Amino acid sequence: MQHKTDSNIITIEHLSHSFGGKSVLDDINLSIKKGEFVTILGPSGCGKTTILRLIGGFLKATEGKINIAGQDMTQTPPHLRPVNTVFQKYALFPHLNVYNNIAFGLQLKKLPTDEIKKRVMQVLKIVTMTNYEERDVDSLSGGQQQRVAIARAIVNKPEVLLLDEPLAALDLKMRKDMQMEIKAMHKKLGISFLYVTHDQEEALTLSDTIVVMREGEIQQIGTPTQIYNEPANSFVADFIGESNILNGVMLKDCLVEFAGHRFECVDKDFGANEPVDVVVRPEDIYIFEMSDAAQFSGLVTSSIFKGVHYEMMVTTPEGFEFMIQDYHCFEAGRTVGMRVKPFDIQVMKKEQHCNTFEGSIVDKSHLRFLGNSFKFPNAEKFESGSKVNIDIDFQDVQLHDDEEDGDLRGVVNFILYKGNHYHLTILTEDNERVFVDTHDIWDDGDRVGISFPAKSIRVKAN
Ligand code: ATP
Repeated sequence: MQHKTDSNIITIEHLSHSFGGKSVLDDINLSIKKGEFVTILGPSGCGKTTILRLIGGFLKATEGKINIAGQDMTQTPPHLRPVNTVFQKYALFPHLNVYNNIAFGLQLKKLPTDEIKKRVMQVLKIVTMTNYEERDVDSLSGGQQQRVAIARAIVNKPEVLLLDEPLAALDLKMRKDMQMEIKAMHKKLGISFLYVTHDQEEALTLSDTIVVMREGEIQQIGTPTQIYNEPANSFVADFIGESNILNGVMLKDCLVEFAGHRFECVDKDFGANEPVDVVVRPEDIYIFEMSDAAQFSGLVTSSIFKGVHYEMMVTTPEGFEFMIQDYHCFEAGRTVGMRVKPFDIQVMKKEQHCNTFEGSIVDKSHLRFLGNSFKFPNAEKFESGSKVNIDIDFQDVQLHDDEEDGDLRGVVNFILYKGNHYHLTILTEDNERVFVDTHDIWDDGDRVGISFPAKSIRVKAN
């Protein structure tokens, strides 16, 4: 039984954190209900562990407040907080057996021996390790060691269990089994679990609520179905499950154009002709023998059996590629018809329509932005030293294999395939974001040179 009430066990307000002046968490607001299973999900380095360490008290917040069980605990040392952490590396004592590993904290607190025994036996039962108490921890499998680590954390009766990628070291089969066990333990204990993972499937399987993060910022908070069916932006759509993500234009309420066709949808309240991002899940595209029922057509370029369904790539005559999942197989080379129901088209506001930077006019032929000076012949129209806004279209940014060939250096940080091109996020050395639309294939982590052709730079007085 899940003991859920409306009251929050943890409330985080305006939490920010920097390491050596570099911001890694920015204005995090989050609450966790009593008994809730909340998962923080995001790519490596997005700040998940830092949130857990701040809640555990192992780090002091640069800014913001952490309230746990009704008390402000922002400054409270770790051992006085009603939380316990299970780490990815189990950190068990190799020289102690299972019983003593679990009893260790209680023995330090000098609890009576009978009480310790009772509690250790109780938690061993919860983690399904009864009869293992005499075993050396070295003799246990990875999954069993992780159960002991969880037992050691819950024996202290915390109000919240913090779990930092606890299954990352296990193989796939063991990880699946342990996911089910963790879910069962959560139900038995009735306390809140705050779980950190970069594995979207794990998050969807385990959680009541998922918090999707990117680069120190929360992107969306919702139930697994909300996050999957109504992603807040293209990052969330891409990160959770497989998606077809395309540029579109909202023509009017309930009518969107993408991939060269018009589709009825259920979204309203966008501006007329507003550029949008459109998401269609691969399982939501109907695929059939070409017929009049088709909204659009395409050629199957690949078809792979995935165990339950077939995964097919289909290219339309307009040059857009779609991933489709269906129980029926349409082999490569076949021309097919496709349909999408209005309800299955997810329309999202674009974060940005073009690159927008703040800058200043240096002299008659130079402009400064992103910490660099750029040639700009039209600068004479502006007063030297004046502040300006600079717009550059995504497709006008040029990337170079050799970092030295650009005006700026950067790293490919995020790649979004949009059916007929890639939308890249490049992080400059000063941690500024530059967005690029390209047909070239780059990899995450590639180091690149960035340049902006002078004719693509649009300048407006600030
Ligand atoms: P992962 O899944 O790889 O553990 P994460 O989302 O948990 O990633 P964090 O460990 O919270 O990310 O790290 C967030 C950012 O802070 C990263 O860029 C990381 O390099 C940086 N960072 C973490 N700890 C420190 C530290 N002690 N000093 C400096 N930078 C740090």
